[in-house]
Amino acid sequence: MKELYEIIIIGAGPAGLTAGLYGSRSNLRTLIIEKGLPGGQLLNTEIIEDYTGFEHVTGIELAQKMEAHARKFGVEIKTGEEVKSIRRSGDLFEVTTDESAYRAITIVATAGGTAQKLGVVGEEEFAGRGVSYCAVCDGAFFNGQVITVVGGGDAAVEEANYLTRFGSKVYLVHRRNEFRAQKILQDQLFQNPKIEVIWDTVVEEIKGDREVDRVLFKNLKTGDTREHPTQGVFIFIGFKPNTYFLDDHPAHDESGHLITNDRMETNVPGLFAAGDLRAQLVRQITNAVGDATVAALAAEKYITHLKHKGLKE
Ligand SMILES: Cc1cc2nc3c(=O)[nH]c(=O)nc-3n(C[C@H](O)[C@H](O)[C@H](O)COP(=O)(O)OP(=O)(O)OC[C@H]3O[C@@H](n4cnc5c(N)ncnc54)[C@H](O)[C@@H]3O)c2cc1C
Repeated sequence: MKELYEIIIIGAGPAGLTAGLYGSRSNLRTLIIEKGLPGGQLLNTEIIEDYTGFEHVTGIELAQKMEAHARKFGVEIKTGEEVKSIRRSGDLFEVTTDESAYRAITIVATAGGTAQKLGVVGEEEFAGRGVSYCAVCDGAFFNGQVITVVGGGDAAVEEANYLTRFGSKVYLVHRRNEFRAQKILQDQLFQNPKIEVIWDTVVEEIKGDREVDRVLFKNLKTGDTREHPTQGVFIFIGFKPNTYFLDDHPAHDESGHLITNDRMETNVPGLFAAGDLRAQLVRQITNAVGDATVAALAAEKYITHLKHKGLKE
């Protein structure tokens, strides 16, 4: 018989570790399954300056503190194990991983998502040293500097506007000659004197010494290339939430982020979502842990109610 947990949490980023803390501290049998190591995106973040109470902390240090805190209350964490499918069966969920199978009364999906990469030389090398995928997280590091934003959808246009709070100048590079972004965002952009749009152009390479100091542009109409001095390169060409393992196809927005109510419950009973894979305005550590708190405590209430009613296996 597959092991039965009251809560199974998918992913051990800030949201998953927080849900694990609240689940185990509520004396619920709680398991976190993580395909990599605990910490999620924190492990790719050099410095964090906007997590309340931590004026300046490395991503690794915060990840270690979050993991230790969750473990203190007895949560089980399986690492290096990827969840491949989750489906509802009676009142329970069947969870299949690449190594094993489990059953759960509730699921808290906290598997985050992945920012789409440009795939150019220098992008990986300078990640966290000039290359960023998050304006709220990293914009303040580029005060008074030249910023280049890549993309043409809502995120690129909105974040280019936001980044003018910091950059002396913001260049928005788009491979076409019109944006996909909403008209209202475009109107704001075209009225902003700090922004210059560079149409029909792609970034071919990101260059620098220890940190980014220039990019190589290629104009797709003329084929011309030129170097463009810049200290920050913000890439907004898509963000894919990790929901591929959910067989019940819960409701989601047009980009695939799961839609929940204010208890963080999806339209699949017993399936909760928290953090970056949830449809919401911002993706930050603070709201990932906030979502996860609600999700775990709402799961506790759901479990209590279901047990009272009589659980159907
Ligand atoms: C470079 C960078 C810098 C950032 N800087 C900041 C900052 O300064 N301040 C801030 O507030 N926010 C910052 N953010 C955003 C912040 O990191 C995220 O909002 C936060 O990590 C979201 O937490 P999460 O738990 O929802 O998801 P994640 O951190 O993405 O964690 C999800 C976890 O789920 C795991 N997973 C995925 N699929 C599966 C599966 N099938 N089976 C098992 N495990 C799975 C992943 O391996 C991962 O560990 C930054 C993000 C990046 C990328």
